[in-house]
Amino acid sequence: MDITVVVPLFNEEESLPELYAWIERVMKANNFTYEVIFVNDGSTDNSWNVIESLSQKSPAVKGIKFRRNYGKSPALFCGFKEAEGDVVITMDADLQDSPDEIPALYHMIVDEGYDLVSGYKQNRKQGDPLSKTIPTKLFNATARKVSGIHNLHDFNCGLKAYRKDVVKNIEVYGEMHRYIPYLAKNAGFDKIGEKPVHHQARKFGKSKFMGWNRFFNGYLDLITLWFLSSFGRKPMHVFGFLGTLMFFIGFLSVVALGVDKLWCLAHGIPQRLITDSPYFFIALTVMMIGTQFFLAGFIGDLVSRSSQNRNDYQIEKTLRCEK
Ligand code: UDP
Ligand code: MG
Repeated sequence: MDITVVVPLFNEEESLPELYAWIERVMKANNFTYEVIFVNDGSTDNSWNVIESLSQKSPAVKGIKFRRNYGKSPALFCGFKEAEGDVVITMDADLQDSPDEIPALYHMIVDEGYDLVSGYKQNRKQGDPLSKTIPTKLFNATARKVSGIHNLHDFNCGLKAYRKDVVKNIEVYGEMHRYIPYLAKNAGFDKIGEKPVHHQARKFGKSKFMGWNRFFNGYLDLITLWFLSSFGRKPMHVFGFLGTLMFFIGFLSVVALGVDKLWCLAHGIPQRLITDSPYFFIALTVMMIGTQFFLAGFIGDLVSRSSQNRNDYQIEKTLRCEK
């Protein structure tokens, strides 16, 4: 099979028939073999009935129905598990992304050798600059910097194409759909490209992602990803280093205070208690924090060594190996 289209959706009943008809038209015009997986993320409207009736009309339609709303990332994750096409394309259900982009994306993966191609909504159709446009620019700049993927303008574009291997080897969870290129890069898929795509204004319903708090959460996710990719398998390397450093700074400060006291003694300078100096308490605190860091490193190592996928490594190919 050439292409799997994965469509996560939450209350998008009005858009689905038009979206599917459009995808079908493009696929047929290009002679692709394909499937479309609709992942109904706990919609409270009629979306699932619409998907059922689409699947009755066309064998290319697959559906997954969540019992409740889990979010876009879990929806993508379950769609990816089910995907069989050589190229997997994700697309929002709201008709903002155009299925006409599919052939070009497909060829970038198959002919130009990209692992992942992200759409770039150059003419972004989302009015409000305060709640969407400006935070999005900031967000993308930070994501570029932290991930080291400098050629992406639009991490969060719903329209993306992947080589099948990529989606089978990444775990999109929580709200990590914003950082899929970073997840892919961490898994070793580093040929990541971008294609400017058309972007329509939402025809029905309204956006499910609004407000500033999603950016705060987005940044926390980015920090987590950075930490996991740098130290996830060796937490002691960061905590142990910080802990040792702080402990020694504290320890040396206490020694310095002691030496100072002896010096005063030797020169007959009037005595002061070591605890009269604020530096003593600062040094003590620093030493204690250092010890805590060190213990956090031990606990981190314990946790990472007992995790189920502690010995999961990305193996691209093997020769004559069975297991
Ligand atoms: N979506 C989802 N689960 C959610 C929220 C959104 O599956 O909890 C889907 C939604 O139906 C749409 C896509 O994710 O197909 C993108 O959402 P939306 O269009 O609201 O985001 P925006 O384009 O405004 O960033
Ligand atoms: Mg949208």
